Amino acid sequence: MTAVVWLRHDLRIRDNPSLLAAARSGLAIVPLYILDNSRNNPWPPGRASRWWLARSLDSLMRDLDGIGSRLILKHGDPLRVLSELRPSNVYWNECHEPWIRDRDKTLRTKLRHLGIRVEVSQSSTLFDAGSILTANGRPYRVYTAFARACGDPDTPLPAPARLPPPDRWPDSDWLDPRPRRSSGLGKSWKPGSNAARSRLTSFNILDYADARDLPGVSGTSRLSPHLHCGEISAREIWNHIRSTQGPGADKFRSELLWREFAHHLLHHYPNMTCRPLQERFLNFPCRDDPEALSRWQQGTTGYPIVDAGMRELRESGWMHNRVRMIVGSFLTKHLLLDWRNGARWFWDTLVDADLANNTTGWQWIAGCGADAVPYFRIFNPVLQGEKFDPDGAYVRHWVPELAELPTKFIHRPWTLPVPPGNYPSPIVDHRFARERALAAFRTTGT
Ligand code: FAD
Repeated sequence: MTAVVWLRHDLRIRDNPSLLAAARSGLAIVPLYILDNSRNNPWPPGRASRWWLARSLDSLMRDLDGIGSRLILKHGDPLRVLSELRPSNVYWNECHEPWIRDRDKTLRTKLRHLGIRVEVSQSSTLFDAGSILTANGRPYRVYTAFARACGDPDTPLPAPARLPPPDRWPDSDWLDPRPRRSSGLGKSWKPGSNAARSRLTSFNILDYADARDLPGVSGTSRLSPHLHCGEISAREIWNHIRSTQGPGADKFRSELLWREFAHHLLHHYPNMTCRPLQERFLNFPCRDDPEALSRWQQGTTGYPIVDAGMRELRESGWMHNRVRMIVGSFLTKHLLLDWRNGARWFWDTLVDADLANNTTGWQWIAGCGADAVPYFRIFNPVLQGEKFDPDGAYVRHWVPELAELPTKFIHRPWTLPVPPGNYPSPIVDHRFARERALAAFRTTGT
């Protein structure tokens, strides 16, 4: 008898409850990854995510090889793939994406009808999704209260020492999810569990509280794409710093809890990917301006910190958290465009594109989410730049046209006696944009 372990957002062998349960079952194990390109998926992985996935699967293959196993890759509809493999048992870890949850629910029933036993575990969050509730049994909608209610997560599970192979391995398809244009990604990233673990151990957590807000220095862990693919579990990261004291470790734990909050929110509110959690924002008067959207996407708004962020994103598939907030505020407030435009662009270009974190981040910055930035906080891109990139190191790196500018002008080049000819003037005046946004917010009754 054979068990299939269907790997999804858990591309790792350590702290993987399904893999361990299957290994302990005494059955022969077939680890499987299915590339499901079905049209039912409203959020197919974007370019950057596909680039990451291809390399993450390569790395997982090597890890499985090390415990006497293989990774079987298949294209297509999971029901067809799983029923053709005819296992006695199928193991998987739950995902939080609403369409996957709906699909899995139907799939479970259909597989049971075929006589296949299905065993489902949870693995992508610190605590089971849906398990952190208020005294009234309701989901938390405020981060601080949610974080207070989270206890200490369990310790991670070990990797199985060996996976018993089947008598005959099924054929594996050739998957090529690699996008053509990916040059910058290879320079910036190394996907896979080993790379994730070395990031975790080399990252300086003691400086995190001070350095995490400065995009010009390397002050954050850059673990997000590894976490999204499940190459490392949140529990393993938490466990690594469990006994580390100090403001850096406290702040880092609070960020892991933001991730947790976002995943639990998506579990409770599956419509939030397309609907603001605050209903009064349903008819928010957004503008439709494809040219402004395109200038934001290309990093040619004329505001250096915004353009640096958008170019960092296009080139490296990632953007610093502080700058995500600045560009998000700029899109939704200065340009008054719908936050969903930003979420879609991030989805296509981020290596860490994650439905829960991305949706929560965009609703937070647009002011329409569960626990959102107050609507009247409209980030001034010049002051944000001067505060968080004081010497302009970040802007100089990503906007080379401005590299030689004196620091005094780096975040406001249009105030130079002779502004640089090869850099655009601001797409919109800050004061005008702020007033326009506040007027739009007044229509929601705020
Ligand atoms: P670190 O600062 O080292 O934090 C460690 C981990 O904590 C991160 O890897 C991440 O898993 C989690 N984390 C940190 N900050 C947040 C946060 N604000 N919300 C949720 N989890 C957090 N994160 C994604 O993983 N995928 C996304 O698609 C995504 N989209 C975002 C969109 C917007 C508009 C905003 C404002 C934020 C978004 N974030 C997203 C959250 C955050 O920007 C990234 O998680 C963080 O920048 C990743 O870098 P890091 O791994 O170095 O983070």
